[in-house]
Amino acid sequence: MDTCPTCSCSFSDCNFNSIPYPAKGWQHNQGIPDTIRFCSQCGTGIAHPTISDMATDELYVQGKYWQQSTTKLPLKIFPVPFGLAQARWELIQKSLPDFQNKREIKLLDIGAGHGYIGLIASFGHNSVLSEYHAIEPDPTMRQYMRDMWIKKGRKQKLNVIPSMDQVTGYYDVVVLSHILEHLQDPSSLINSAIALLSSQQGLLFIDVPNQDHLFKNNVFPHIVFFSPSSLKYLLKQEQLEIIHLETWGRNMYKSPANANTPLKMKLMGEMIRLSYRFLPSKFLVQFYAWYFGGNQMNTEGTWIRALCRNKES
Ligand SMILES: [Zn+2]
Repeated sequence: MDTCPTCSCSFSDCNFNSIPYPAKGWQHNQGIPDTIRFCSQCGTGIAHPTISDMATDELYVQGKYWQQSTTKLPLKIFPVPFGLAQARWELIQKSLPDFQNKREIKLLDIGAGHGYIGLIASFGHNSVLSEYHAIEPDPTMRQYMRDMWIKKGRKQKLNVIPSMDQVTGYYDVVVLSHILEHLQDPSSLINSAIALLSSQQGLLFIDVPNQDHLFKNNVFPHIVFFSPSSLKYLLKQEQLEIIHLETWGRNMYKSPANANTPLKMKLMGEMIRLSYRFLPSKFLVQFYAWYFGGNQMNTEGTWIRALCRNKES
């Protein structure tokens, strides 16, 4: 990629800094990028050479991304993604517009994974979820979402599809959680997502890692590296009104998601991991929410979350 995906500045024309691409455990002949280049104009980091579409398809469609060893996931709640989805939905919910007569929310989740945000929204008190549309390329995850929806007795409409091409209609909320960092051209997906918002008040929610090259020893398969300021730059380019843009989670340098986790945290995590199957899932959800700080804002947090909508014209 020779131009910056955020500001379109050409890497052959501008100066850029680069660092080695952290990919512990991977061989560089496996299609792993060599470096991350940082745009001198907007600060966005871009993997170079980029990861081919073929390599990413293989990861996301063939189940390698979620690292399943079977074609069926156990029908239980996975506490880490569940707690993170709770924190995300809580943030979105606060900014949901008052639809007056229209109280029903249609939610589109692009790259839905376990589909927990839809499940949590379906139990919501302040809003009524009417439809949850989940796009997920991995067939095992799609089956898991369908089974979980039935297991939890959800009556709302669930539509699980493998790709964006099958999306029809408009949505009150569009979620892009941990998607943009995997794309060569994040702005084109943001544009497609904006086009699917049902009204001026429709919300676009974004969650990306906060400069994870600074604290992880393996960032594969991430292609784009955002900081709060470069994400803001991108959203402003798209003419969006930013309602919220903050960093969340434990301090990135001390987070358990980090290579240099303090020993005390490591031990605590290990203790819970060992007694995992004896602990109730409600406790585990709460423990991991605290452990990763998923529901706390923090100036040097692990993740950047943004909520935006179309500017009033
Ligand atoms: Zn740039």
